[in-house]
Amino acid sequence: MASIGFESHDHDNCIHSCITAVDARCRELGLQFTPVRKRVLEILLQEHRALGAYEILDRLREEGLGSQPPVAYRALDFLVKNGFAHKIERLNAFVACTHPGQNHAPVFMICRLCSAVAEAKSGSRNGALNQAASEAGFQIERTVVEAEGLCPSCRADT
Ligand SMILES: [Zn+2]
Ligand SMILES: [Zn+2]
Ligand SMILES: [Zn+2]
Repeated sequence: MASIGFESHDHDNCIHSCITAVDARCRELGLQFTPVRKRVLEILLQEHRALGAYEILDRLREEGLGSQPPVAYRALDFLVKNGFAHKIERLNAFVACTHPGQNHAPVFMICRLCSAVAEAKSGSRNGALNQAASEAGFQIERTVVEAEGLCPSCRADT
């Protein structure tokens, strides 16, 4: 299981490679990766932290990229719909996907103190859940696992 976010890593390169991957993916699919959409993704990637739509809107406003809520919402919609970002229901906030373009069932580890979020790749599909679903005759279309706890740096502080 590979995870990004709680481990130290080359963060400049992480932002750059993610933006490059999404850019390529958009071109491949004929999607418009507009400056606002790109900026919103960069903002999400900057901290590996879940951000609410209003926090994102504040930054866009500061940067003169748009001050109307629909601007931020539409960009977030686009990113989530295409799998470049995920919505964390628990926090009503958004994070950038750490492996965009891959079909995956994300598993999130959310720090309850600092809101740092790490996305762990859950392999293909959750085996036990799949098994239970198939026994119940249920077809799973979307699984989101959100685990809440303390990240390594908050654990070190306590
Ligand atoms: Zn990073
Ligand atoms: Zn993801
Ligand atoms: Zn934390």
